[in-house]
Amino acid sequence: SIEITNVNKRFGDFVALDDVSVSIPTGQLTALLGPSGGGKSTLLRIIGGLEQADTGRVVIEGVDATNLPPQKRNVGFVFQHYAAFKHLSVRRNVAFGLEIRKRPKAEIRSRVDELLALVHLEQFAERLPSQLSGGQRQRMALARALAIEPTVLLLDEPFGALDAKVRRELRDWLRRLHDEVHVSTVFVTHDQEEALEVADEIVVINEGRIEQIGSPDDLYDRPANDFVMSFLGPVT
Ligand code: ATP
Ligand code: MG
Repeated sequence: SIEITNVNKRFGDFVALDDVSVSIPTGQLTALLGPSGGGKSTLLRIIGGLEQADTGRVVIEGVDATNLPPQKRNVGFVFQHYAAFKHLSVRRNVAFGLEIRKRPKAEIRSRVDELLALVHLEQFAERLPSQLSGGQRQRMALARALAIEPTVLLLDEPFGALDAKVRRELRDWLRRLHDEVHVSTVFVTHDQEEALEVADEIVVINEGRIEQIGSPDDLYDRPANDFVMSFLGPVT
């Protein structure tokens, strides 16, 4: 599990996270849901080690990660605007994390083939990222994040820049992918519908505080307070 305990984070006088505690079970697809500015990305970055909490602890699968740098946490990241290596093929982009870890060539090749099949990009392996659609590029980003066999996959609005139809497709596809690989995944979104459809569990966060933690059904049927009720209310 990922255990976040009494995490506080300020930027100057501004309180971005106010005594946040949450336990994220292993193998689950968890959504961090809330309005803009609520602290979702800050919490995700603290889990990944891209940001340091002022106080509090982050324990990942029993290891106290509070003071570990990102590269020692074995986490995979995907952001909204994914920075691919523009001059490298899709294959080389996916292989990158394995190449810098100096894994044997044959192992890299078979692992990358496996990953490209998983995200249905086999026939695009030799293309450049610029020759992919936005949705295909985010699938490449996911393959690349999975290449290092992360303990935790951290996704920050990975489909945020895509149009509604592609978003829906990728959301369904992420759900199926997760059912295959079962890697612990934390998925940031401000889209209620996306969270309700894709997540095993949803953490609602607003103004740096957790409003509710529960399954999609819990939240929908038994919102803990007026905020959750109105935030989930106008689902189309
Ligand atoms: P969005 O949905 O818009 O991405 P979010 O829930 O991810 O929002 P955060 O990015 O976590 O929100 O930001 C929470 C608050 O902390 C915001 O008010 C933001 O302006 C502030 N903040 C985040 N990072 C910094 C920073 N490096 N310096 C100052 N303020 C910051
Ligand atoms: Mg954000």
